[in-house]
Amino acid sequence: MINGTNCHLIYDGQTVASKHRKHIRDHHRTKELKTYIKQKTGMSEAAFADIDWQSHKRSVNTFKDGPHIFLVKFLHGWLPVGKLVSRYNPVKYPSACPSCDEPVEDSKHFLTCPNPERRKWHAALKTSLRRRAHRVPERIAHLLHSQTTIGWDNFFLGRWSRHWTTLQLQYLQRNHIEGKKKNHGLSWSSNIIRLLWDHCYKEWKTRNSARHGKDAEDKAQRRLETAHRSIRDLYDPKPRCSLQAQRHYFYPTVEDHFRIDSDARSLENWLETYQAMIMPNIRHRRNNSDLRLRQIDDVFNLIRTVPPRDPTPTMAPRQRTPTLTTRPINTYFRPLRITSPTPTLETPTTTARTTSTSNNPTTTAPRPP
Ligand SMILES: [Zn+2]
Repeated sequence: MINGTNCHLIYDGQTVASKHRKHIRDHHRTKELKTYIKQKTGMSEAAFADIDWQSHKRSVNTFKDGPHIFLVKFLHGWLPVGKLVSRYNPVKYPSACPSCDEPVEDSKHFLTCPNPERRKWHAALKTSLRRRAHRVPERIAHLLHSQTTIGWDNFFLGRWSRHWTTLQLQYLQRNHIEGKKKNHGLSWSSNIIRLLWDHCYKEWKTRNSARHGKDAEDKAQRRLETAHRSIRDLYDPKPRCSLQAQRHYFYPTVEDHFRIDSDARSLENWLETYQAMIMPNIRHRRNNSDLRLRQIDDVFNLIRTVPPRDPTPTMAPRQRTPTLTTRPINTYFRPLRITSPTPTLETPTTTARTTSTSNNPTTTAPRPP
Protein backbone atom coordinates (compact mmCIF):
# COMPACT_ATOMS: atom_id res chain seq x y z
CA MET A 1 0.00 0.00 0.00
CA ILE A 2 1.36 3.38 -0.96
CA ASN A 3 1.30 5.79 1.97
CA GLY A 4 -1.62 8.19 1.94
CA THR A 5 -3.45 6.27 -0.74
CA ASN A 6 -5.48 3.12 -1.12
CA CYS A 7 -3.29 1.93 -3.98
CA HIS A 8 -0.98 -1.02 -4.44
CA LEU A 9 1.94 -0.88 -6.85
CA ILE A 10 2.10 -3.92 -9.10
CA TYR A 11 5.22 -4.13 -11.27
CA ASP A 12 5.79 -6.98 -13.72
CA GLY A 13 2.91 -8.88 -12.10
CA GLN A 14 4.35 -8.58 -8.59
CA THR A 15 3.16 -6.36 -5.77
CA VAL A 16 5.78 -3.92 -4.53
CA ALA A 17 5.34 -3.34 -0.82
CA SER A 18 8.05 -0.75 -0.12
CA LYS A 19 10.78 1.42 -1.71
CA HIS A 20 8.58 1.99 -4.71
CA ARG A 21 10.75 4.59 -6.43
CA LYS A 22 13.93 2.55 -6.03
CA HIS A 23 12.17 -0.60 -7.24
CA ILE A 24 10.87 1.09 -10.37
CA ARG A 25 14.19 2.81 -11.08
CA ASP A 26 16.27 -0.33 -10.57
CA HIS A 27 14.02 -2.72 -12.46
CA HIS A 28 13.36 -0.38 -15.35
CA ARG A 29 17.06 0.28 -16.00
CA THR A 30 18.31 -3.17 -15.07
CA LYS A 31 16.14 -4.86 -17.64
CA GLU A 32 17.66 -2.92 -20.52
CA LEU A 33 21.17 -3.25 -19.12
CA LYS A 34 20.85 -7.02 -18.79
CA THR A 35 19.66 -7.29 -22.38
CA TYR A 36 22.57 -5.13 -23.53
CA ILE A 37 25.20 -7.15 -21.63
CA LYS A 38 23.82 -10.47 -22.86
CA GLN A 39 23.79 -9.29 -26.45
CA LYS A 40 27.27 -7.75 -26.25
CA THR A 41 28.99 -10.68 -24.52
CA GLY A 42 26.96 -13.45 -26.12
CA MET A 43 26.40 -14.90 -22.65
CA SER A 44 23.75 -17.58 -22.17
CA GLU A 45 20.79 -17.02 -19.88
CA ALA A 46 22.09 -19.71 -17.47
CA ALA A 47 25.57 -18.17 -17.29
CA PHE A 48 24.07 -14.73 -16.78
CA ALA A 49 21.92 -16.02 -13.92
CA ASP A 50 25.00 -17.65 -12.34
CA ILE A 51 26.78 -14.31 -11.89
CA ASP A 52 26.95 -12.87 -8.42
CA TRP A 53 25.39 -9.52 -9.35
CA GLN A 54 25.15 -8.40 -5.75
CA SER A 55 28.93 -8.46 -5.37
CA HIS A 56 29.26 -6.72 -8.71
CA LYS A 57 26.81 -3.99 -7.75
CA ARG A 58 28.44 -3.44 -4.38
CA SER A 59 31.87 -3.18 -6.03
CA VAL A 60 30.60 -0.60 -8.51
CA ASN A 61 29.00 1.49 -5.77
CA THR A 62 32.08 1.42 -3.53
CA PHE A 63 34.83 1.75 -6.16
CA LYS A 64 36.83 4.82 -5.21
CA ASP A 65 40.29 4.04 -6.53
CA GLY A 66 39.63 5.68 -9.90
CA PRO A 67 37.09 7.89 -11.65
CA HIS A 68 33.66 6.37 -12.19
CA ILE A 69 33.80 7.17 -15.88
CA PHE A 70 36.81 4.86 -16.23
CA LEU A 71 34.91 2.04 -14.55
CA VAL A 72 31.83 2.41 -16.77
CA LYS A 73 33.94 2.42 -19.92
CA PHE A 74 36.09 -0.45 -18.67
CA LEU A 75 33.11 -2.67 -17.81
CA HIS A 76 31.39 -2.13 -21.14
CA GLY A 77 34.45 -2.20 -23.41
CA TRP A 78 34.33 1.50 -24.24
CA LEU A 79 37.84 2.48 -23.08
CA PRO A 80 39.37 4.76 -25.72
CA VAL A 81 41.92 2.21 -26.92
CA GLY A 82 43.54 2.52 -30.33
CA LYS A 83 40.98 0.38 -32.15
CA LEU A 84 38.12 2.60 -30.96
CA VAL A 85 39.58 6.10 -31.33
CA SER A 86 41.26 5.44 -34.68
CA ARG A 87 37.75 5.31 -36.19
CA TYR A 88 37.43 9.05 -35.60
CA ASN A 89 40.79 10.09 -37.04
CA PRO A 90 43.33 7.36 -37.93
CA VAL A 91 46.14 9.89 -38.38
CA LYS A 92 45.69 11.75 -35.13
CA TYR A 93 44.73 8.64 -33.16
CA PRO A 94 46.71 5.60 -34.42
CA SER A 95 45.23 2.18 -33.76
CA ALA A 96 48.56 0.57 -32.77
CA CYS A 97 49.49 -0.23 -29.19
CA PRO A 98 51.69 2.55 -27.73
CA SER A 99 53.91 0.00 -25.93
CA CYS A 100 54.49 -2.83 -28.42
CA ASP A 101 54.25 -3.70 -32.11
CA GLU A 102 50.63 -4.81 -31.97
CA PRO A 103 48.96 -3.05 -34.94
CA VAL A 104 45.51 -2.91 -33.33
CA GLU A 105 45.12 -2.18 -29.63
CA ASP A 106 41.78 -3.44 -28.37
CA SER A 107 40.37 -3.84 -24.85
CA LYS A 108 41.79 -7.35 -24.55
CA HIS A 109 45.28 -6.29 -25.62
CA PHE A 110 45.17 -3.47 -23.07
CA LEU A 111 45.21 -6.14 -20.32
CA THR A 112 47.56 -8.58 -22.05
CA CYS A 113 50.19 -6.33 -23.66
CA PRO A 114 53.52 -8.25 -23.65
CA ASN A 115 55.67 -5.16 -23.13
CA PRO A 116 57.87 -5.80 -20.01
CA GLU A 117 56.95 -2.43 -18.49
CA ARG A 118 53.29 -3.13 -18.99
CA ARG A 119 53.48 -6.68 -17.65
CA LYS A 120 54.65 -5.49 -14.24
CA TRP A 121 51.07 -5.02 -13.12
CA HIS A 122 50.46 -8.79 -13.41
CA ALA A 123 53.02 -9.48 -10.67
CA ALA A 124 51.66 -6.63 -8.53
CA LEU A 125 48.13 -7.99 -8.87
CA LYS A 126 49.22 -11.51 -7.91
CA THR A 127 50.95 -10.16 -4.81
CA SER A 128 47.87 -8.19 -3.79
CA LEU A 129 45.58 -11.17 -4.38
CA ARG A 130 47.75 -13.45 -2.28
CA ARG A 131 47.47 -10.99 0.61
CA ARG A 132 43.69 -10.98 0.52
CA ALA A 133 42.72 -14.37 -0.92
CA HIS A 134 45.51 -16.75 -0.03
CA ARG A 135 42.97 -19.26 1.25
CA VAL A 136 41.69 -20.66 -2.00
CA PRO A 137 38.57 -22.85 -1.65
CA GLU A 138 39.48 -26.53 -1.90
CA ARG A 139 36.56 -28.01 -3.86
CA ILE A 140 36.53 -25.77 -6.85
CA ALA A 141 35.33 -28.00 -9.71
CA HIS A 142 31.88 -26.39 -9.70
CA LEU A 143 33.42 -22.99 -9.38
CA LEU A 144 35.77 -23.46 -12.31
CA HIS A 145 33.03 -24.83 -14.51
CA SER A 146 30.68 -21.96 -13.62
CA GLN A 147 33.28 -19.23 -14.12
CA THR A 148 34.43 -20.80 -17.39
CA THR A 149 30.83 -20.71 -18.61
CA ILE A 150 30.55 -17.05 -17.64
CA GLY A 151 33.97 -16.34 -19.13
CA TRP A 152 37.28 -15.53 -17.47
CA ASP A 153 37.35 -12.20 -19.32
CA ASN A 154 34.29 -11.35 -17.27
CA PHE A 155 36.19 -12.26 -14.11
CA PHE A 156 38.21 -9.05 -14.51
CA LEU A 157 35.00 -7.14 -15.11
CA GLY A 158 33.66 -8.22 -11.72
CA ARG A 159 31.18 -10.70 -13.16
CA TRP A 160 31.93 -13.53 -10.76
CA SER A 161 30.22 -16.83 -10.28
CA ARG A 162 28.02 -17.13 -7.20
CA HIS A 163 30.15 -20.12 -6.15
CA TRP A 164 33.04 -17.87 -5.12
CA THR A 165 31.30 -16.53 -1.99
CA THR A 166 29.52 -19.81 -1.27
CA LEU A 167 32.72 -21.85 -1.30
CA GLN A 168 34.57 -19.22 0.69
CA LEU A 169 31.94 -19.41 3.43
CA GLN A 170 32.04 -23.23 3.41
CA TYR A 171 35.81 -23.11 3.71
CA LEU A 172 35.63 -20.84 6.77
CA GLN A 173 33.04 -23.08 8.45
CA ARG A 174 34.94 -26.27 7.70
CA ASN A 175 38.15 -24.90 9.16
CA HIS A 176 36.42 -23.23 12.13
CA ILE A 177 37.64 -19.83 11.09
CA GLU A 178 35.78 -16.97 12.61
CA GLY A 179 33.73 -15.15 10.02
CA LYS A 180 34.72 -11.50 9.95
CA LYS A 181 33.44 -8.68 7.88
CA LYS A 182 36.28 -8.88 5.40
CA ASN A 183 36.76 -12.63 4.96
CA HIS A 184 33.39 -13.76 3.65
CA GLY A 185 30.23 -12.73 1.91
CA LEU A 186 29.67 -9.59 -0.06
CA SER A 187 32.45 -7.64 1.62
CA TRP A 188 35.03 -10.29 0.74
CA SER A 189 34.03 -10.64 -2.91
CA SER A 190 33.47 -6.92 -3.55
CA ASN A 191 36.82 -6.09 -1.91
CA ILE A 192 38.67 -8.41 -4.30
CA ILE A 193 36.72 -7.18 -7.31
CA ARG A 194 37.63 -3.61 -6.40
CA LEU A 195 41.24 -4.73 -6.02
CA LEU A 196 41.18 -6.05 -9.60
CA TRP A 197 39.71 -2.82 -10.90
CA ASP A 198 42.21 -0.77 -8.94
CA HIS A 199 45.08 -2.59 -10.68
CA CYS A 200 43.34 -2.28 -14.04
CA TYR A 201 43.02 1.47 -13.53
CA LYS A 202 46.71 1.76 -12.64
CA GLU A 203 47.51 -0.17 -15.79
CA TRP A 204 45.30 2.22 -17.78
CA LYS A 205 47.34 5.14 -16.44
CA THR A 206 50.56 3.33 -17.41
CA ARG A 207 49.17 2.79 -20.89
CA ASN A 208 48.18 6.46 -21.17
CA SER A 209 51.70 7.51 -20.14
CA ALA A 210 53.08 5.35 -22.94
CA ARG A 211 50.66 6.98 -25.38
CA HIS A 212 50.77 10.63 -24.29
CA GLY A 213 54.09 10.89 -22.41
CA LYS A 214 55.22 10.59 -18.81
CA ASP A 215 56.18 14.16 -17.87
CA ALA A 216 55.40 17.63 -19.21
CA GLU A 217 58.36 17.64 -21.62
CA ASP A 218 57.51 14.20 -22.96
CA LYS A 219 53.84 15.15 -23.34
CA ALA A 220 54.78 18.32 -25.27
CA GLN A 221 56.98 16.26 -27.61
CA ARG A 222 54.17 13.72 -28.23
CA ARG A 223 51.75 16.58 -28.88
CA LEU A 224 54.15 18.08 -31.43
CA GLU A 225 54.61 14.69 -33.14
CA THR A 226 50.84 14.22 -33.37
CA ALA A 227 50.42 17.67 -34.94
CA HIS A 228 53.28 16.99 -37.40
CA ARG A 229 51.72 13.68 -38.38
CA SER A 230 48.29 15.25 -38.96
CA ILE A 231 49.71 18.15 -41.00
CA ARG A 232 51.88 15.90 -43.16
CA ASP A 233 48.77 13.90 -43.87
CA LEU A 234 47.06 17.08 -45.16
CA TYR A 235 50.03 18.17 -47.26
CA ASP A 236 50.07 14.85 -49.16
CA PRO A 237 46.88 15.65 -51.11
CA LYS A 238 47.89 19.34 -51.56
CA PRO A 239 48.39 18.93 -55.37
CA ARG A 240 44.78 17.77 -55.61
CA CYS A 241 43.49 21.05 -54.11
CA SER A 242 42.52 24.00 -56.29
CA LEU A 243 45.33 26.46 -57.03
CA GLN A 244 43.62 29.05 -54.90
CA ALA A 245 43.43 26.65 -51.96
CA GLN A 246 47.07 25.69 -52.42
CA ARG A 247 48.03 29.34 -52.32
CA HIS A 248 45.78 30.35 -49.42
CA TYR A 249 45.88 27.36 -47.11
CA PHE A 250 49.39 25.96 -47.41
CA TYR A 251 52.98 27.02 -47.09
CA PRO A 252 55.21 26.14 -50.06
CA THR A 253 56.38 22.94 -48.38
CA VAL A 254 55.55 21.12 -45.19
CA GLU A 255 59.12 21.70 -43.98
CA ASP A 256 58.58 25.45 -44.39
CA HIS A 257 55.43 25.09 -42.35
CA PHE A 258 57.19 23.32 -39.49
CA ARG A 259 60.05 25.82 -39.56
CA ILE A 260 57.72 28.82 -39.28
CA ASP A 261 55.11 27.31 -36.92
CA SER A 262 57.46 25.47 -34.62
CA ASP A 263 55.21 25.02 -31.58
CA ALA A 264 52.37 22.56 -31.19
CA ARG A 265 49.80 25.25 -30.39
CA SER A 266 50.32 27.06 -33.73
CA LEU A 267 50.17 23.80 -35.64
CA GLU A 268 46.97 22.75 -33.88
CA ASN A 269 45.44 26.16 -34.64
CA TRP A 270 46.32 25.71 -38.31
CA LEU A 271 44.72 22.27 -38.27
CA GLU A 272 41.55 23.56 -36.61
CA THR A 273 41.29 26.39 -39.13
CA TYR A 274 42.13 24.68 -42.40
CA GLN A 275 41.47 20.96 -41.95
CA ALA A 276 37.73 21.45 -42.34
CA MET A 277 38.29 23.36 -45.60
CA ILE A 278 40.99 21.30 -47.30
CA MET A 279 39.22 17.96 -47.54
CA PRO A 280 35.93 19.43 -48.91
CA ASN A 281 38.03 21.38 -51.42
CA ILE A 282 39.65 18.15 -52.63
CA ARG A 283 36.28 16.40 -52.86
CA HIS A 284 34.70 19.34 -54.67
CA ARG A 285 37.55 19.50 -57.16
CA ARG A 286 37.42 15.75 -57.74
CA ASN A 287 33.68 15.94 -58.42
CA ASN A 288 34.28 18.76 -60.89
CA SER A 289 37.02 16.76 -62.50
CA ASP A 290 34.63 13.87 -62.99
CA LEU A 291 32.28 16.29 -64.73
CA ARG A 292 35.20 17.71 -66.78
CA LEU A 293 34.74 21.13 -65.13
CA ARG A 294 37.59 23.44 -64.18
CA GLN A 295 37.79 25.69 -61.16
CA ILE A 296 37.41 29.34 -62.10
CA ASP A 297 40.43 30.30 -60.02
CA ASP A 298 42.49 27.77 -61.96
CA VAL A 299 41.54 29.56 -65.18
CA PHE A 300 42.30 32.99 -63.76
CA ASN A 301 45.61 31.75 -62.52
CA LEU A 302 46.55 30.71 -66.06
CA ILE A 303 45.81 34.17 -67.54
CA ARG A 304 47.30 36.10 -64.65
CA THR A 305 48.80 39.30 -65.98
CA VAL A 306 50.79 40.28 -62.89
CA PRO A 307 53.65 37.93 -62.12
CA PRO A 308 53.18 36.19 -58.77
CA ARG A 309 55.35 37.09 -55.89
CA ASP A 310 58.15 34.65 -55.27
CA PRO A 311 56.99 32.21 -52.63
CA THR A 312 59.10 32.68 -49.60
CA PRO A 313 59.06 30.59 -46.42
CA THR A 314 57.91 33.60 -44.44
CA MET A 315 54.74 33.98 -46.50
CA ALA A 316 51.70 33.25 -44.37
CA PRO A 317 49.18 30.90 -45.97
CA ARG A 318 46.39 33.46 -46.15
CA GLN A 319 48.41 36.25 -47.82
CA ARG A 320 47.04 36.78 -51.29
CA THR A 321 49.24 36.98 -54.34
CA PRO A 322 48.21 39.88 -56.61
CA THR A 323 45.89 38.54 -59.28
CA LEU A 324 43.79 39.86 -62.11
CA THR A 325 40.91 40.68 -59.79
CA THR A 326 43.00 42.99 -57.64
CA ARG A 327 44.05 45.35 -60.44
CA PRO A 328 42.71 48.91 -60.35
CA ILE A 329 39.69 49.38 -62.59
CA ASN A 330 41.33 52.11 -64.67
CA THR A 331 43.81 49.57 -65.97
CA TYR A 332 40.93 47.91 -67.84
CA PHE A 333 39.11 51.01 -69.19
CA ARG A 334 40.15 54.21 -70.82
CA PRO A 335 40.33 57.22 -68.47
CA LEU A 336 37.06 59.15 -68.34
CA ARG A 337 37.04 62.79 -69.38
CA ILE A 338 34.67 64.31 -66.87
CA THR A 339 35.14 68.00 -67.77
CA SER A 340 34.22 67.67 -71.45
CA PRO A 341 31.62 70.47 -72.03
CA THR A 342 30.10 69.10 -75.27
CA PRO A 343 30.13 65.35 -75.42
CA THR A 344 30.18 63.99 -78.93
CA LEU A 345 27.94 61.33 -80.31
CA GLU A 346 30.75 58.76 -80.33
CA THR A 347 31.20 58.79 -76.54
CA PRO A 348 27.80 58.07 -74.90
CA THR A 349 28.12 54.32 -74.83
CA THR A 350 31.48 54.40 -73.15
CA THR A 351 30.50 57.27 -70.87
CA ALA A 352 27.27 55.68 -69.78
CA ARG A 353 28.93 52.36 -69.01
CA THR A 354 31.68 54.01 -67.06
CA THR A 355 29.44 56.27 -65.02
CA SER A 356 27.30 53.36 -63.98
CA THR A 357 30.30 51.86 -62.24
CA SER A 358 31.78 55.06 -60.84
CA ASN A 359 28.59 56.41 -59.19
CA ASN A 360 29.81 59.96 -59.72
CA PRO A 361 26.88 62.41 -59.88
CA THR A 362 28.86 64.88 -62.05
CA THR A 363 29.29 62.37 -64.86
CA THR A 364 25.72 61.64 -65.88
CA ALA A 365 25.26 60.29 -69.36
CA PRO A 366 24.53 63.07 -71.86
CA ARG A 367 21.30 62.87 -73.79
CA PRO A 368 21.54 62.78 -77.55
CA PRO A 369 20.21 65.94 -79.19
ZN1 LIG B 1 50.98 -3.80 -26.55
